This record gives sequence, structure tokens and C-alpha cells, in this order.
Amino acid sequence: MFNLILFGPPGSGKGTQSEKIVSTYQLQHISTGDLLRDEVSRHTPLGIEAKKFMDQGMLVPDEVVIGMISGKIDASPDARGFIFDGFPRTSNQAEALDKLLEFKNTTIHLVLALEVPENDLITRLVNRGITSGRSDDNEEVITKRIKEYHAKTEPVAKYYNGQGKLERVPGNNTIDQTFQLLTKHINKYLLPVA
Ligand code: ADP
Repeated sequence: MFNLILFGPPGSGKGTQSEKIVSTYQLQHISTGDLLRDEVSRHTPLGIEAKKFMDQGMLVPDEVVIGMISGKIDASPDARGFIFDGFPRTSNQAEALDKLLEFKNTTIHLVLALEVPENDLITRLVNRGITSGRSDDNEEVITKRIKEYHAKTEPVAKYYNGQGKLERVPGNNTIDQTFQLLTKHINKYLLPVA
């Protein structure tokens, strides 16, 4: 099994690159943002609770997200590996993930951190807001999300750097150039399927 975390600030391209990685290496994609938006659109109790935080650009409480992830890992017992996108987003979540994976006799092998200058992030997210219809892609909420990222999520990079698993990759080139840089790291562990 090979488990990868795609790490980076809002708008750094995690979703786009995850799709390419999933189709090239056949990993099971777990995006907490997508899972939460699905709960919101189905008006589940979890979705109704999560929406209050998401619409303000704040992180959803750890226990909500960790519970959701655990179920998703259990739902794919035969996966070749997982790609975690938008998770873990706090040190607490990172520790919980380590415990969940340890229980399944596996671990995180690699953390790829996409690095994009802050001005580019804001431009990308504002543009996405125009086409995506996402309620949290407006300038006020975007600024809040980036603030949350610096305060709560950046420490997660340190956590994995301490474990010797973190690789930083520039994310401000074209989609394909960025993907090539990511594959160089992944190929050390896992070969493309096709
Ligand atoms: P982006 O990275 O572009 O901000 P995501 O789709 O990953 O977008 O997340 C959207 C929102 O969903 C976040 O602002 C947050 O409120 C919530 N969310 C997603 N993943 C997590 C997580 N792991 N922990 C807490 N909240 C999360």
C-alpha cells in the first residue's frame, strides 16, 4: 500500500493534481472538501453543522472530519493506496490519521506540499468563485481561509517534515509541469498503472 498526502494552501491546485494522480496511479481519492460539500448538498445533520464553518472560511471541527475520514478508509479495504487531499488540516488531524493508519498496519509514505505565492492564490480563488458557484470563493471568505491555513494548517507541514516525509514542490507553473514534478517524487515509491 502507498499513502500520499497532497498538501498546500487553498487554491494551490490540490484538487486538479489529485485527479491526475488518481488516474495515473489508481489511488483512492479522499478529499474532505468534496466529502463535506456532498454532506452539505444532501442536507445531512453533518452537512448542516459543517456549512456554518465553511461559509465563514473556518475549519470544520476535528472530530467531525476525523469521523468522516475513518469511514471512508474502511469503505475501501482493497485500495492500492490513498491520496488525502485537504486532510489533515490540523496537527490533531495528523495525529489521528497516523493512529488510524497504524491500526491498519500501514502509514503515510509521502507528503507533497504545493507552494504558490499568496497573490496568485487569491487571483485563482476569486476566478474559481466566478465559475464554481462555491459559496466560500469570495474575497472576504478567501482571506479568512488563507488566515486559517497559516494559523492551523501550516504546522502540519512541520509535523511531517519531522518524520522526514515532506517534499516541497512549486505549484505556480502550468498544470502539466506541476504534475511532472509531483510524479518524480511519487515514482520513487509507485509506478504508473497505465
Ligand atoms: P480549499 O482548500 O480550496 O479551501 P476545500 O474544498 O479543501 O477547499 O475545503 C473547503 C472548506 O471545507 C474549508 O474552508 C473548511 O471549512 C472545510 N474543510 C475541508 N477539509 C477540512 C478539514 N480537513 N478540516 C476541517 N475543515 C475542512
